[in-house]
Amino acid sequence: MATLVMKFGGTSVADPDLIRRCALRLAAASAEGHRVVAVVSAMGHSTDHLIDLAEKVSPAPRRRELDALMATGEQVSCALVAMALAELGIEGVSLTGAQVGIHTDDSHGRARVLRIERHRLEHELAHGRLPIVAGFQGIRSNGDITTLGRGGSDTTAVALAAALDVSRDGGCCEIYTDVDGVYTADPRIVPQAVKLARISYEEMLELAALGAGVMHARAVIFGEKFGVPIHVRHSQKPDAGTIISEETPDMEEITVIGAALKPDLGRVTLRGLPAVVGLQGRLFEAIAKRGILVDDIVQTESQDAMTISVTVEHGDLAETKTVAGQFITELGRGDLSVEVGLAKVSAVGTGMKSHSGVASRMFRALGDAGIPIQNITTSEIKISCIVPREHGEHGLRVIHQAFELEKGDRSRAVDQPDRAAAQ
Ligand code: ADP
Ligand code: ASP
Ligand code: MG
Repeated sequence: MATLVMKFGGTSVADPDLIRRCALRLAAASAEGHRVVAVVSAMGHSTDHLIDLAEKVSPAPRRRELDALMATGEQVSCALVAMALAELGIEGVSLTGAQVGIHTDDSHGRARVLRIERHRLEHELAHGRLPIVAGFQGIRSNGDITTLGRGGSDTTAVALAAALDVSRDGGCCEIYTDVDGVYTADPRIVPQAVKLARISYEEMLELAALGAGVMHARAVIFGEKFGVPIHVRHSQKPDAGTIISEETPDMEEITVIGAALKPDLGRVTLRGLPAVVGLQGRLFEAIAKRGILVDDIVQTESQDAMTISVTVEHGDLAETKTVAGQFITELGRGDLSVEVGLAKVSAVGTGMKSHSGVASRMFRALGDAGIPIQNITTSEIKISCIVPREHGEHGLRVIHQAFELEKGDRSRAVDQPDRAAAQ
């Protein structure tokens, strides 16, 4: 008997009919003899609606109150799933993050999971009840409700799977969504994208952090840290999806496995800073204190002055500008400018560690397509380019084509002809 944590995303619980279908899927897994724990997201776009509602009442609501409001979305769907299960003769029990004991740090809106208690879940399972946990939320040490960042229900699911040690009994964390697996790029933007049968945690983490919204990046970190196999699959289809797991030796054979897009970035540039030792540490400490995630950094120096550009998600731009403004005021030197309308396109693959020529191929393809590259960043397994936002989606398609990702790979992409056999 395996322990399964089954997570259903917003589109998979968007209306009463879908909620009933989700309950049927949970009931089937339970009837097969598995120990099942469900995690659900808020119905459809209800989190967006709650944020709109808050903004109508207050243009800049306190994050604590926004979390209290947003967390209600998941509570609605988990109570409804419990009711739908009851109709099938299964006793489900809806649980909030606080009831389960999902302890987080204090950063409202982007809290990190610190610890998960397992006794409540074990208690419910031992009594034959199916726990349905509200995703995306936790509780800080003072008892206040926190949320884990947009898309954070994936993290709840993988963190619970880690706490329940699902790999011990052959279980896994199943992420049910509106796409049948992880593709070589977002299939909504790149119609030629193909589904991957499996992908390593390392590659999935890069893809997710670089914009592949199918998985929350922090969920992948949990998966890797605690060895939780993650199965991404379609909530309305029975087919196998994509397995995210440890890297296997042949994975290095593939240079680029996928491409991703971050469509909406902005940049804050601080010019005329004194070139003194330790200045960067002070600036980025101030940015980190606000919980802002920096996308990339460029530093240039001329004579005795320094320029630092910080690229962030558009949603973090205003706060980054405020912090940078305060920093310059305190220094008593320098000036500030803000750019909007940027995007980032990236190619990812573990094989880059052992293959060369990836960067040149990517830059040439973008150049041939007339897409200007404004900045480049690389790691062992990724290459990213900042481009004007209007070229973002086209840039993603260009990269996909440049690395012939539509051809898939025998071992890693599914639904593809066996290329060796075809030769
Ligand atoms: P859920 O509400 O189930 O959490 P999300 O909207 O968060 O669903 O994630 C699913 C979406 O992720 C898909 O509809 C797809 O457009 C998008 N996506 C982005 N990149 C990829 C990718 N590489 N593979 C599959 N889907 C992707
Ligand atoms: N409901 C939250 C969101 O829309 C969390 C999630 O769906 O994972 O971001
Ligand atoms: Mg999601």
